[in-house]
Amino acid sequence: MKPSVAYMTDPIYLLHDTGPWHPESPERLKAIERRVAPLRERLTTLSPIAVSEKLIASVHSLEHIETVRAHCESLEPIDADTICSAHSWEAALKAAGAGIVAVDALHQGTAHRVFCAVRPPGHHATIERSMGFCLFNNVAIAARYAQTKGFKKVAIVDFDVHHGNGTQDIFYDDGTVLYFSTHQSPAYPGTGSADERGVGEGLGATFNFPFPPGSGDSELVALYEERLAPILEEFSPDILLVSAGYDLHEADPLAQLEVTTEGVRRIVRAILKSSEIPKIFMLEGGYDTHALAECVAVTIEEMLQ
Ligand code: ZN
Repeated sequence: MKPSVAYMTDPIYLLHDTGPWHPESPERLKAIERRVAPLRERLTTLSPIAVSEKLIASVHSLEHIETVRAHCESLEPIDADTICSAHSWEAALKAAGAGIVAVDALHQGTAHRVFCAVRPPGHHATIERSMGFCLFNNVAIAARYAQTKGFKKVAIVDFDVHHGNGTQDIFYDDGTVLYFSTHQSPAYPGTGSADERGVGEGLGATFNFPFPPGSGDSELVALYEERLAPILEEFSPDILLVSAGYDLHEADPLAQLEVTTEGVRRIVRAILKSSEIPKIFMLEGGYDTHALAECVAVTIEEMLQ
């Protein structure tokens, strides 16, 4: 039986207004929407809810939640990159809420794979801090929620070109959540060296694979095809969450990892083949709108296989 694949997005994500020059723009989702349209009849459509503050607090400090709320009310940017507009609070709640609805769909068996086309992205948001275009850590909130639904062990795979410092920080001492990241180094935010492997109970549950600029497809694809499945087999997760950032693509204006669309297809295929457990892909970066839309379509095509 073919896996049932669901797709989730929401008009509110287009109203998170980062200004005219910001690479993390609503145009990203509009391009995805146009490119994915022909695939939609093969996909179950889901709609996100606004995540509760209680669920946000399973990951973020109350001070952090109040800081984000205050910035969304005052419209003051959190930093030069991380912007809050009139609808950003609602968009952020629904970006995290997509993960909640996706976990519920997997839990109820109405879908086996879900793609969440959300913004703002999440993987740079730490327990205490928004940064790098990210307000709340969408994938981390989904991971904590999944654990309450019987998915006790969670694996997070992050192929965004930037290291997911927020996700790593949140689970660094937690042996129940595995974090596997490939990223460009040197690059923003500067973390993610191979010797960052977790601490305490989490020691050995963080896997960082930095790649130099210009790496291209071969070694990165090989890592996913050869290393990921054995690592997951040993950890034996109940659910796999993917921080799907497409700024690893060769056309991306913010990074230089130079992965082709076909390389992205092979990475996604390797992730899907790595284990039979339910999977949620959550959009992170990707700033060339054409390449982003192509890569999301490729991802969904592979999810439908
Ligand atoms: Zn990124």
